[in-house]
Amino acid sequence: MQTNKLFNLSRWRLASYYAGVMGVILGFCGLAVYEMTSQDHWRSLDQELTSLAGTLHDGLEPLLHRPGQLEPSVKQVLPNLCLGTQVCVIPPRHNHILNATQQPGYYVRFLNLNGQLLATAGENPPGLSFERETTRQRPLTDQQGDRYHQVSLQLKTATGKPWGYLKVGRSLEEYDHHLQTIQAFLVFGLPVVMIGVGGASWLLAGLAMEPVYLSYQQIQQFTADIAHELRTPITAIQATLETTLSTEPNSEEVHSTLQILKRQNYRLTHLIQDLLLLSRMDLQDANWSRFQPCCLNDLVGDLVEEFAGSGITAGVQLSAEIRVEQPVWVKGEEDQLYRLVGNLISNAIHYTPTGGEVTVMLETDKQQAIIKVQDTGIGIASEDQSRIFDRFYRVDTARSRQRGGAGLGLAIAQAIAVKHQGILTVESELEKGSLFTIHLPLVSAPIVRS
Ligand code: ADP
Repeated sequence: MQTNKLFNLSRWRLASYYAGVMGVILGFCGLAVYEMTSQDHWRSLDQELTSLAGTLHDGLEPLLHRPGQLEPSVKQVLPNLCLGTQVCVIPPRHNHILNATQQPGYYVRFLNLNGQLLATAGENPPGLSFERETTRQRPLTDQQGDRYHQVSLQLKTATGKPWGYLKVGRSLEEYDHHLQTIQAFLVFGLPVVMIGVGGASWLLAGLAMEPVYLSYQQIQQFTADIAHELRTPITAIQATLETTLSTEPNSEEVHSTLQILKRQNYRLTHLIQDLLLLSRMDLQDANWSRFQPCCLNDLVGDLVEEFAGSGITAGVQLSAEIRVEQPVWVKGEEDQLYRLVGNLISNAIHYTPTGGEVTVMLETDKQQAIIKVQDTGIGIASEDQSRIFDRFYRVDTARSRQRGGAGLGLAIAQAIAVKHQGILTVESELEKGSLFTIHLPLVSAPIVRS
């Protein structure tokens, strides 16, 4: 396939389409995974801050009495609270809220109703604006460019008057780092995956095209074989005509020329008929169930009778062995079944030397009718046995041609067997003989209406 330009190009195309489609699918999957992961991460971050802010809100509100004023008792909830923008160092204590606000990257801010900073706890990012709300699309950014997510809640005094705002925020460094890792994986990992997909696509395209390439080769071989087979009789006709026309032939020579023309014409007609039969069987979708029942006892008997003359001419003893008591019925086209068994008997007689025997047997097993054609002829070498059913394959070309064979007889026989839901097999040994066996599905005898 590599050497055939057309197939190579098609393979490249197919592989590119595969890889392209896989690339687009993988790209979309990567983006979807990225988007889902970032959303999921953001949601858990937001929930964490919201729950922290809610806990603080619920703990602080009963301690607030005057709007914008932080009572000293607030320090019980947030011991690390620093008034204004001063930086305070607080010794660690075992308090859940404090633990959370003391973690790196967290901060708590208190703003009065005018938005002025009253106090902070935890890390106090320098230059972070005091915006009341933040959104996911626009997190807060400090002087150093670090991003923060912040949750804001309004605080009320113990008597329900508006007090100011509580803001709980967290650095997005960890979140950004996580997303950057996924981005890096997608940016660098996807091309590596695509190289793998490209290689796999090339291999798969090759596998997909293999049967097409084989059929293409078979068609090419078939066409070459037909051309060769047609050329032989046509060349013979041409040569005979030229020789006859270049002389002044007497009536005997004319008669001999006509005999040659007749023989070659017969050969051509035979070849064309065989080819037509094969191509018809290739094209037709056989509906086996619609075939009529056909009695094999009659068929074997008729054929042995028909070939008796050929057997005598060849000095081969032809006999039938019907090993069943009842008539054996199969479904099929009678003409074609005649052709199938006829081809086998004709071959057996032809490839059996004078004095040999050819036996046609009919038997059954549970669901199969079995026809065997056995000869004591020249046999077939084991390396040829798998090829003799190929079109135009002949073991001994000269011997086959001599009888007008083109190597289509067994190909036709096998096509007929397959069309009738059967199988045709061969067992053979050189110089000992061959046994061709046909298995066909049995059917019950047709009901005869009086
Ligand atoms: P052909 O027209 O050449 O006989 P077939 O397709 O009938 O073509 O057979 C293919 C080849 O198989 C033959 O050329 C022959 O070599 C071999 N063959 C078929 N039948 C027999 C047989 N009974 N004994 C030995 N060789 C056989």
